[in-house]
Amino acid sequence: MKTSFSVSNAKKLHEKIVNTLVEEKKSDLQEAKLLAYYLMEFLYEIDKTAILLEKSIEYDELSLQSYLQRLIKGEPIQYITQKAYFYGLELSVNEHTLIPRPETEELVELIIQRIGKKNLLRIADIGTGSGCIPIALAKQLPDNQYFAVDISPNTLAVAKDNAKKNDVRISFIQQDILTKNLLRIFPLHIIISNPPYICVNEKTTMNKTVMDYEPDIALFVANETPLLFYEKMALYGLDTLVSGGYLFFEINQLYGEAMRAMLLHYNYIEVEILKDLSGNDRFAVAIKP
Ligand code: GLN
Repeated sequence: MKTSFSVSNAKKLHEKIVNTLVEEKKSDLQEAKLLAYYLMEFLYEIDKTAILLEKSIEYDELSLQSYLQRLIKGEPIQYITQKAYFYGLELSVNEHTLIPRPETEELVELIIQRIGKKNLLRIADIGTGSGCIPIALAKQLPDNQYFAVDISPNTLAVAKDNAKKNDVRISFIQQDILTKNLLRIFPLHIIISNPPYICVNEKTTMNKTVMDYEPDIALFVANETPLLFYEKMALYGLDTLVSGGYLFFEINQLYGEAMRAMLLHYNYIEVEILKDLSGNDRFAVAIKP
């Protein structure tokens, strides 16, 4: 690959990157500044303080331009740096995992509020992705036993690496929750899931960046069966949860009432549909009788 080394004052380079992002990506100034800090930290291992102190750095203009083009095209910075932050933790992410969302941090918060005083619980997260949920919980509530399930070996590799880097113990299990002969993790006190919940016909309303870069398998469900994964987990819960055990789900805002009806249909009690900070139905909590 051709190289084109230049030396620059870090602050000037930061300004140049910001201008490019404002002009070509149409980022607002705040977003452009943040993206430029993350990119420079990733490429040159230089933090914000060193940038503001106008340290001089040697950089490769051609390589920088290729990273900028990726951002301009809409690739999330988290996939470029392969890093995301969740509940105060640093996690690795790649094309096999969703980038953890703030709503999912709210789910973790909700679970901690509800069960934080108990311990020695057996907790399973189904469709764990980057492992963000059980890793954050294990950090906060270490005296429980955690299981994390995912269909994809590539995704589980990322989650395992994240658990190791964050120094928590989780048992990882590769399986498809929709399969008939499901491995029975028994007994469980809590089942958590943020499964694919966006219907294919909602694609038109979605941010292009999400559709272009994040894994479809983690996002989409057929229009005819929006509750497919939830129903399967409700049944799994009837089989594996202790009496008084919990389901905690992140849900599609359009299906709050359908979710409540489904959970009541399977005889769950104290069913609650809760809103996220944006005021949308986003979480379901239920207890096995
Ligand atoms: N909340 C995610 C989004 O809006 C979707 C997560 C999911 O399907 N579980 O992109």
